[in-house]
Amino acid sequence: MGVPTLACECAVCTSPDPHDRRLRPSVLLRWREPSTETERIVVIDTGPDFREQALRARLTHVDAVFYTHGHADHILGMDDLRPLSFIALKRGGPIPLYADREAAAVLERTFGYTFSPQATYSTRARVELILLGERNLVHGVDFVRIPLLHGEQPIAGYRIGNAAYMTDVSAIPEASFALLEGVEVLAISALRHAPHPSHSTVEQSLEWSRRIGAKQTWFTHIAHELGHEETNRTLPANVSLAYDGLSVPVTL
Ligand SMILES: [Zn+2]
Ligand SMILES: [Zn+2]
Repeated sequence: MGVPTLACECAVCTSPDPHDRRLRPSVLLRWREPSTETERIVVIDTGPDFREQALRARLTHVDAVFYTHGHADHILGMDDLRPLSFIALKRGGPIPLYADREAAAVLERTFGYTFSPQATYSTRARVELILLGERNLVHGVDFVRIPLLHGEQPIAGYRIGNAAYMTDVSAIPEASFALLEGVEVLAISALRHAPHPSHSTVEQSLEWSRRIGAKQTWFTHIAHELGHEETNRTLPANVSLAYDGLSVPVTL
């Protein structure tokens, strides 16, 4: 829902701490391709706040987008890829959007004027849906799909080098732990303390973080029940609430 949450006047929603202002979750990976010295940028999810986030990150181009699932808070900013997609088109082609079948169907339905084969709207986003595979190579970097459950719904997390990004997770299938071996930087959702049918609690995510053995864990997709400072005081030294604008080095 984002924090502040609409119509809420709780201590976190009215907190003066900038860490307590949370846009909808998304991450950006930025690396320099060794062979060409080209800067590559991949975004995971384009939620309703994508435009604000892209402005803050001073995004000048996007090489690809990966989607975790088709919920509104993860896809609704897709249309704001338009100016970036015109740049991509000039450089050689549409922006590839990697999505599983379910997320792709939601994108196609939601943005029919973009994806329909009959689409004629002249300034539609120049994007191309690509069916997510187990491994997905983008300019030399492997995005490994991590199967997760979000309530009843299978969704995708991603392993990239020594890092993993897993949002909106309520259960990790046993087989997925093998794909997480050696993860040092873990970003995982932790909604709140109270149980939720499709999101893990802080306690559950702490347990997974220990099992995965990450050196550093960042909690994301945080609801307004969790204040930044007060929650961080209760977490182990290598686990923290992430915050908007946080930048973390990873090894690809
Ligand atoms: Zn969701
Ligand atoms: Zn979500």
